[in-house]
Amino acid sequence: MDTPLDSASTPAYDDVRTAPRALATEAVHAGRDDLARQGLHAPPIDLSTTYPSYDSRAEAARIDAFATDGAELDGTPVYGRLGNPTVARFETALARLEGTEAAVAFASGMAALSAVLLVRSAAGLRHVVAVRPLYGCSDHLLTAGLLGTEVTWTDPAGIADALRPDTGLVMVETPANPTLAEVDLRAVAHACGSVPLLVDNTFATPVLQRPAEQGARLVLHSATKYLGGHGDVMAGVVACDEELAARLRQVRFATGGVLHPLAGYLLLRGLSTLPVRVRAASATAAELAARLADDPRVARVHYPSIGGAMVSFEVHGDPHAVIGGVGLITPAVSLGSVDTLIQHPASISHRIVDADDRRGAGVGDRLLRMSVGLEDVEDLWADLDRALGERPGPPSVRGLHEVMS
Ligand SMILES: *Cc1c(COP(=O)(O)O)cnc(C)c1O
Repeated sequence: MDTPLDSASTPAYDDVRTAPRALATEAVHAGRDDLARQGLHAPPIDLSTTYPSYDSRAEAARIDAFATDGAELDGTPVYGRLGNPTVARFETALARLEGTEAAVAFASGMAALSAVLLVRSAAGLRHVVAVRPLYGCSDHLLTAGLLGTEVTWTDPAGIADALRPDTGLVMVETPANPTLAEVDLRAVAHACGSVPLLVDNTFATPVLQRPAEQGARLVLHSATKYLGGHGDVMAGVVACDEELAARLRQVRFATGGVLHPLAGYLLLRGLSTLPVRVRAASATAAELAARLADDPRVARVHYPSIGGAMVSFEVHGDPHAVIGGVGLITPAVSLGSVDTLIQHPASISHRIVDADDRRGAGVGDRLLRMSVGLEDVEDLWADLDRALGERPGPPSVRGLHEVMS
């Protein structure tokens, strides 16, 4: 979407753009490679909703091309709902981080998932096979059939048998919200055959897991979480191949769930620190998971084998007392911010899921979900320790290996 660089395009510049680069380098440079040659450092924010054009024949041809192929428009944008240069920078960067051809950004994670479901339904493929647990509202969207889809819930081993001729999508989340259950993506991708696999990668981020490399055709993020990273922007994005991206852009244009350019700017800024944030918060989360696993007030700790900054745990006592007892930690839904958040999934994030389905998916009434931020580990532990209340009896001797999953 950016103005072509023509004279500014030099061999050195092209080399930089095409050479393989490590994730930490992509996080800082992807989507910004043209800036220095334009005499810019920070990416410009383009707030235009419309764009002047004196050649309406050319516009007609470009709009026809978008309507037929959904290809990104070359040259000047036309209208904000068709595409925005600042948002396009974020999309370019996220596609580089996930290792996909393209990415399409939306106003929220749910808008992104809705667009995927609409794309598949429009192809006559209304059936979805999904594995619980999923994020509560994703579960609700599928179960309620709000977009005319029909869902079959299964476990990873049951995916192949659940496929039907009208199955348009298989959906999994790993590590899953809120139990942090993991699925073997390669095995699941194999079971899907030719049906596209969508992986919600919100919890792992491309820093810890790149599902496209393991066979996923669509990688979904609630960018509201780690990608933005500061709790101040709501967004969603789907990383995928160009063929599906084209259909997603057409649905976004027709249904209007676009991302605001300011949000696109904040997300691009968030990506530059994503690897550092995720690694630092993960180290703290692993330490807290180990201490919780050794704590007699805690019945069970869930911490993913691939690491990450999310820790879930079941308490012996009243989970609501823990939520009411934190001071430094913020009792709030959502995750992936620089500060630590804790919430009770059965009351909030997964409240909208039927209680039996919720418990069946391992989301018990004593489960708490914590999103670990960038605070000092000792300060966080002191706060948790206080919130957990009195320690019963002598300290437990249970080892970490027995209770971690
Ligand atoms: C929050 C979340 C969503 C929904 O994203 P929004 O940006 O809130 O619409 C989807 N999946 C997961 C795993 C989430 O945590």
